[in-house]
This record gives sequence, structure tokens and C-alpha cells, in this order.
Amino acid sequence: MVNLRPEEISSVIKEQIKNYTAKLETTDVGTVIQVADGIARIHGLENAMQGELLEFPGEVYGMVMNLEEDNVGVVLLGDSRAVNEGDVVKTTGRVVEVPVGDALTGRVVNALGQPIDEKGPIDTDKYRPVERVAYGVIDRQAVDTPVQTGIKAIDSMVPIGRGQRELIIGDRQTGKTAIAVDMIINQKGQNMHCIYVAIGQKASTVAGIVKTLKEHDAMEYTTVVASTASELAPLQYIAPYAGCAIGEEWMERGEDVLIIYDDLSKHATAYRTLSLLLRRPPGREAYPGDVFYLHSRLLERASRLSKELGGGSLTAIPIIETQAGDVSAYIPTNVISITDGQIYLETEMFHAGFRPAINAGLSVSRVGGAAQIKAMKKIAGPIRTELAQYRELASFAQFGSELDDDTRERLAQGERIKEVLKQPQYQPLAVEKQIVIIYAVTRKYLLDVPVERIAEFEKGLYEFVETKYPEIYKAIRETGEINSETDVLIQKAITEFKNQF
Ligand code: ATP
Ligand code: MG
Repeated sequence: MVNLRPEEISSVIKEQIKNYTAKLETTDVGTVIQVADGIARIHGLENAMQGELLEFPGEVYGMVMNLEEDNVGVVLLGDSRAVNEGDVVKTTGRVVEVPVGDALTGRVVNALGQPIDEKGPIDTDKYRPVERVAYGVIDRQAVDTPVQTGIKAIDSMVPIGRGQRELIIGDRQTGKTAIAVDMIINQKGQNMHCIYVAIGQKASTVAGIVKTLKEHDAMEYTTVVASTASELAPLQYIAPYAGCAIGEEWMERGEDVLIIYDDLSKHATAYRTLSLLLRRPPGREAYPGDVFYLHSRLLERASRLSKELGGGSLTAIPIIETQAGDVSAYIPTNVISITDGQIYLETEMFHAGFRPAINAGLSVSRVGGAAQIKAMKKIAGPIRTELAQYRELASFAQFGSELDDDTRERLAQGERIKEVLKQPQYQPLAVEKQIVIIYAVTRKYLLDVPVERIAEFEKGLYEFVETKYPEIYKAIRETGEINSETDVLIQKAITEFKNQF
């Protein structure tokens, strides 16, 4: 990964402006009255627009953030040392744009769409503004196609549909990024463009993720937009919108896109920094008053377009980091209310070895059920209730009182479900395989298998079905259903395998 240099930013923006063919009149000229901390105040720009790019001497560009009565507040997107009081500033008539299109596939770019992967320039002549108004209700259709994440606990309990927004929320180091990366790895061959937006992370962490994606051949259909912790706050602020604009291009072509924002807590922090420097009044937790709009206008852009508009989709997976599990803090509650559900990761479960540490009680997907394939819906139903019963009974069972057979069985069943939902990293599973093991556990075939041997059982069962009953996988894959014939076959396969286990 190459570090971002201000000269490069300027040259890209300059290039974009040069390519701009529409009539471009830079009539408005102002002067810098103050410059500090990457923020400049300009006097005399009466026609400047919100979000417009301004040109400073020395090829430095800035973005208009505050339109005030007698001056304009600007964040500088390059080296602020080159800008001085009294400098002349010009409006450009343009907003920040990023290159879009297939040339972005497999690339790692910064918040301005500039390559940082040493694979040369991005070969595209198409640009899109990073901000735009989201599609309205009429332009959309209901979610009905699943995003197969390959993670058993998600596909069975909190299914995600194409066009949906599902939040991943949890404390630091609880496997949030791991889930997102596994989701991307599992999109191989599923006609899905993936975009991973890294906001405010260490450059080495991002490099590690890119390496992992490469190792799993996932960079072939993935774009990484990175704005690392060492970059200027304005760039971290722009990054998710830039990623979204790249995704929208594909969505409008009728294709499907999965975009991960990792993470929006750091995005909010960058925005707070920038707002305080612009002297906007601080509100709750010192965030500016419009911090809700910061994320709502981003996530609103996720959608499943109507048939007339090509039927493309943009599925958004924002990530939020909580402090000590506090989901009632400002930013978490905001994003929870904007999204269509959340996957809640729990520190205790993570440390107890239940990974992915998805809390089944607090995780929901409000619209994904409509997109779940029939076979999964049919068999995964009992998981949630049985887990809930298990949790309640387990707290009583701690007292060591005598348990009746029914209670004992419910406890045993709960333990087995929990065990089946464990999944190692980088091993997303095809949905037909998930269905076979979930069938086994929900129909109580695993009650007499010792808990510590379940992982081994699972692995063996997949291989057994693959060699002996491949028609099961085939039928589920092709029809998405379990018809009576397949049902009998699955029972037969599980029983046979159990006898030899
Ligand atoms: P941060 O808050 O630092 O961004 P995070 O919540 O994104 O952390 P990860 O980086 O995804 O968490 O994961 C933390 C650690 O847990 C990593 O070392 C990862 O390899 C490990 N881990 C995550 N998921 C699993 C899993 N399913 N099985 C085993 N290990 C896992
Ligand atoms: Mg992470």
C-alpha cells in the first residue's frame, strides 16, 4: 500500500476538472481570510455551492462545507501548508467525483478513487459525484433475493436480502470484520460485485484484508476503498460516499453489489473532528447536530431497483463498534434505527469460543425473511425458539436442581444448536450444506452425538452426502426447496452416516 500524498490528490482532481466537458465558468473568486488545521475560511465567494470543489494556488483543492453569511468554510483535501492568508481561490462548478465502472474491479483506491495498489492508473472515463439523492420508493421493489453469506448463523437466523441494510455491531475485537470478509469470500460465482470501504483503520490492517481477499480469489470481484487512520479527516469522511457511488454505477446497470462500511463509528468521529474545526456547534457526545443525516443519507442509497430501472441492487453492511456493549450510545442507536436489522456480536460469547459470536436474541433481520430460500426457511424455523428456551433453562439448571427428562432434552438440544452454529473463519459454507447440518440438528438427529464430536460429525456428513447422495445438494441448489423426495433422502443420508459414525 502506498501512502497518500497531497500532490497526488491534487493531480487527480485536476485531471477530473480537465476532463469535464460541460461549460465551466469559474467566475467566482474569493480570498483566504484564515487557514488552520486543514480548514480555510474564504471571503467573497458568493455563488459557492455546498460540497463544491474550490481551487487554491499550488494545486490544492478544498471542499465547501459551511456556507455562512460573510464567508465560506472549506476543508482542504491536500497539503494545507501551501495555502496562505490572502491567497486567491476560485470556484470550479464541480463537486467531488470518483471514477466508476468495471475498471475498479480488483483495485484498491483511496477516498478519491485514486489507485493505491501499484497496478497503474484506472482505465475509465466515467465519473460520478460521491453524493447523490437516493432513489425514491416508486423506483424500488421489495427485497426477494438472498445474499448468501455462507455463515450458518446468519443465513439461518438473520437472512439478508439483496438491497437490504444490515448492521454488524459489537465491541472491538469481536469478529466484525471477519464476518464481512467471509461474506465477500462467499460471493464467488454469485454474480455480486463487492466493495469493502475501510474507514479510519490502520494501513497495515487494510493491507492484511486485501491479502486475505487475494488468497481466496475474492479480489477478482472486489474493490477496496481505503481511507486509513493516518489520512485527513475530510478524506475519511468522503470514503463511504465514494464507495457507494462506485457501487451505484453497477446497480444502475442492473447488477448486484454488496458494500461493507468498516466502520461507521470511525466515520462519525472523522466527521466530528471536521465539524468542530469548522466551528459547528457540538451537540450530544460533541457530535454535530446533523450526524444522523450523515449516515441516513448514506444508507438510504442502498436499494433494490424496480424492474423498469433494471432490477439491480446495492446491499449495505455497515459496521459499528460499541464501547462495553453499549448499544444505547448516540451513534449505535442512530445506525440501528436507520438499518433493516442488526447482527449483534457479543464479547463473552466470542471469548467463550462461540465464533462467530452472534447473539441470537438481539440479532434480527426485518426484511431478509422474504428473501430466504424456501428450504432454509422450512428447516431453520425452530432454531431461534429452541435457543431462547435453552438460554432460559440454562440459567435455572445452574442451580443443580433435579431436571426432568424434557428439560434435559431441551438443554441438550440447545447446546447442539450452539455447537452447529460455530464456524471457523474463512470457511463460508454453501447454503445446501448448511441446510443438511441444520436439518440434522433441528430434527434432533444430533441429540445422541456428544457435543465435542459435532464439528467432526458435521465435516464427515458433508463429505458423506457429497459422495453418496450428491443429488441432495443438487436438488436444493437448483430448486431452493426440500420436496418430499429430497426430505426422505436427507433423512436416509443422515441415518446412514450416523450408523457408521
Ligand atoms: P476491531 O474492533 O479491531 O475491528 P473486529 O471486531 O473487526 O475487531 P476481527 O478483526 O474480525 O474483529 O476479529 C478479531 C480476531 O478474532 C481476529 O484475530 C480473527 O482472526 C478472530 N476471529 C474472528 N472470527 C473468528 C472465527 N469465526 N473463528 C475464529 N477466529 C475468529
Ligand atoms: Mg474490524
